[in-house]
Amino acid sequence: MAENPMLKFVSVGRDMPQKREASERREDFREIYAEYADAKAKEQASRCSQCGVPYCQSHCPLHNNIPDWLKLTAEGRLREAYEVSQATNTFPEICGRICPQDRLCEGNCVIEQSGHGTVTIGSVEKYITDTAWEEGWVVPPKPVRERKESVGIIGAGPGGLAAADMLRRAGVQVTIYDRYDRAGGLLTYGIPGFKLEKDVVMRRNKQLEDGGVTFKLNHEVGRDISFEQVREAHDAVIIATGVYKSRDLTLPNATSGGVVKAIDFLTVSNRKSFGDEVEAFEDGSLNAEGKRVVVIGGGDTAMDCVRTSIRQGASSVKCLYRRDRANMPGSQREVQNAEEEGVVFEWLSAPKGFTEEGGKVTGVMVQKMRLGAPDATGRQAPEVIEGADYVEGADLVIKALGFEPEDLPTLWDQPELEVTRWGTIKAEFTTGKTALDGVYAVGDIVRGASLVVWAIRDGRDCAEAILKDLSGASAIAAE
Ligand code: FAD
Repeated sequence: MAENPMLKFVSVGRDMPQKREASERREDFREIYAEYADAKAKEQASRCSQCGVPYCQSHCPLHNNIPDWLKLTAEGRLREAYEVSQATNTFPEICGRICPQDRLCEGNCVIEQSGHGTVTIGSVEKYITDTAWEEGWVVPPKPVRERKESVGIIGAGPGGLAAADMLRRAGVQVTIYDRYDRAGGLLTYGIPGFKLEKDVVMRRNKQLEDGGVTFKLNHEVGRDISFEQVREAHDAVIIATGVYKSRDLTLPNATSGGVVKAIDFLTVSNRKSFGDEVEAFEDGSLNAEGKRVVVIGGGDTAMDCVRTSIRQGASSVKCLYRRDRANMPGSQREVQNAEEEGVVFEWLSAPKGFTEEGGKVTGVMVQKMRLGAPDATGRQAPEVIEGADYVEGADLVIKALGFEPEDLPTLWDQPELEVTRWGTIKAEFTTGKTALDGVYAVGDIVRGASLVVWAIRDGRDCAEAILKDLSGASAIAAE
């Protein structure tokens, strides 16, 4: 009987792809993990226990068929592994790089729960699709027949792109409008290259363009073109605009020079990685070089800011977070990466105001906190420790406090576009249908700041719903 290629977790340990030395990776914006060699990918995939109830799959927002593509990888059937992987996920190599696997698939892996160390699902996923790109197996969407209906998508982030891909495969004419000069949304201008190298995103944009998707870049809806114009031009419209309004601090001296928003800082840094000339970088206002940097916040955006500052050559980088390490929202893996790279975390610390000289920030007035009684969500609320304040010297303070939606009904003069009390668009679960006929919404603008994998899921679900609606409409028209 042939040997079972799986269940090797008993004899084979968990092994992540090699991570570059911190001293080396501090110097550039390249990804920090190497690719698996073929034998290593097979070996690590073979650790899967092929359990009867795959919790990895049920905890993946896309319900990726993980056990099957792990088995195919272990058997050396990589092309089939790729086919299975891409059947449920538009951008598997992107999810493999930046999904918080510790909270999703890997965190729920049965062998992780039994103390053997999770299968390295994300790294194998990345390996499969990177190989597919190298081998030429990833091809542009090629519809069997063209349809005359068209869909306009506002926003070229992962939500909009995932919907575009599905619609195009079905032959629908797709136009994407984005206010930026490059497609990809936060994949392009938010997430830094050390987590997701930019050519990985650009080749996906090109794949869609080659497949017939029309990109209208530098088109801000509400400024360069009205929402009504977009609506009139298409049979259906998807709003996939993400959330970009930064939460702010109303504290003394919060408007001093050198107190900046995380999204501005990261966008400029990503533009520099593309080789763009950016005035705010050249003039030093959004450049950490030689500065004492303090980042405020404990989420993934804060982690991206501290690690970007290190790479820009800051003289010191500190991260202030008002809760402790165990209660921070950001990924523990990213905290560890940041610490290795030289970031200092000041836990249980919150800003009270800023010191300044001649209009420029010189420090953050810090108050120390402790965790008190749990709040309504069960999370311990931070409380101030009186008399423990101090000033942390700073030349650049980056606010990474989260994002809120822009007020689209007002900006686009669409009072009938219903929003929730948080300002996100009210859309039907699983279809994305909004209060406006033929208008759908997906991704962060519906969920609030979330994850790439959820945006992809929404985009795919919405495309499916639109295809059903369009087919219904064309059947009625033909009657
Ligand atoms: P977005 O990616 O925000 O794309 C929206 C697009 O709409 C943008 O291109 C924007 O230019 C365009 N747009 C907006 N308004 C208009 C308009 N009026 N007209 C035309 N175009 C418009 N998630 C993870 O899973 N893993 C991570 O590691 C991770 N890291 C992150 C790091 C940072 C710094 C940030 C900010 C977020 C991170 N996220 C991460 C979250 C993730 O990026 C988002 O959840 C995801 O990108 C949302 O996708 P989206 O398509 O809804 O919107």
